[in-house]
Amino acid sequence: MNTKVKDLKFPELGYAFSALEPHIDAMTMEIHYTKHHKAYFDNLQAAVKDTEMADMAFGELLKNISKFPVGVRNNGGGHFNHSLFWKIMSAQGGGLPQGELAAAIDKSFGSLEAMKEKFNTAAKTRFGSGWAWLCVNTDKSLEICSTPNQDNPLMDVSDCKASPILGLDVWEHAYYLKYQNKRPDYINAFWNVVDWREVAKNYKAAL
Ligand code: MN
Repeated sequence: MNTKVKDLKFPELGYAFSALEPHIDAMTMEIHYTKHHKAYFDNLQAAVKDTEMADMAFGELLKNISKFPVGVRNNGGGHFNHSLFWKIMSAQGGGLPQGELAAAIDKSFGSLEAMKEKFNTAAKTRFGSGWAWLCVNTDKSLEICSTPNQDNPLMDVSDCKASPILGLDVWEHAYYLKYQNKRPDYINAFWNVVDWREVAKNYKAAL
């Protein structure tokens, strides 16, 4: 997040497009990563070129996003959100969170199941396109929220302001080929590929 916007790199996916099958299908992954995310990344670079934004730390840009053009908000959010999303999924995902993260989930929500239920509701009820998030607040408590479009909780324009450690893309482009109108089925399937070790890393980094 301290990387200057102009020095950001389009990230490696880290696994094959088919790695998350059957929960997320290979064609969706390929199009989502190579077309959608790549377009957000390229459009962000084009939008900041030869401006003061190019030399800002990416985290600072997101934190002050209300001062900048809406195209930077949409594409900068798109780049951040998808970069996080790919990282917190894995073919070896699923199972249970461990250690401090598990304890923090129990403390904030009562149980993992209660957290998931709240997250699923946030993801299902986000009207149109957006994201559902598990975030860390400044007091170290965990919170669930959702944001529209490519906004995220790091942005000053967001209703919920916190550090996202797990996010789910609920744009139709993320699930329509396999799930069509059945967003709840996609949300349920997502938990089978969540890489809790990565989420735990994000949790520690956010404290
Ligand atoms: Mn997407």
